[in-house]
Amino acid sequence: MAKCHFCGGEIVKGKKTFTITRGDYHVIIRDIQTDVCSQCEEAYYDPQQGKAIEEILKTLDDQVKRLQTPIPSTKS
Ligand SMILES: [Zn+2]
Repeated sequence: MAKCHFCGGEIVKGKKTFTITRGDYHVIIRDIQTDVCSQCEEAYYDPQQGKAIEEILKTLDDQVKRLQTPIPSTKS
């Protein structure tokens, strides 16, 4: 049985809500099916899930930057 690195608690299958605050936005992803410590609720995402989250944040970074860039005026 796997143990939590942080508190030694038991790691079980569960759901985790991922939240992060970046410079200009917040992300909340509910109900990610992953391994979670039954005591401190630390999530142990598998590498694919980590990668998916990374991709989401990368996309958001790019798109948020776009939204914050003034649109060049097409009027003359
Ligand atoms: Zn723990």
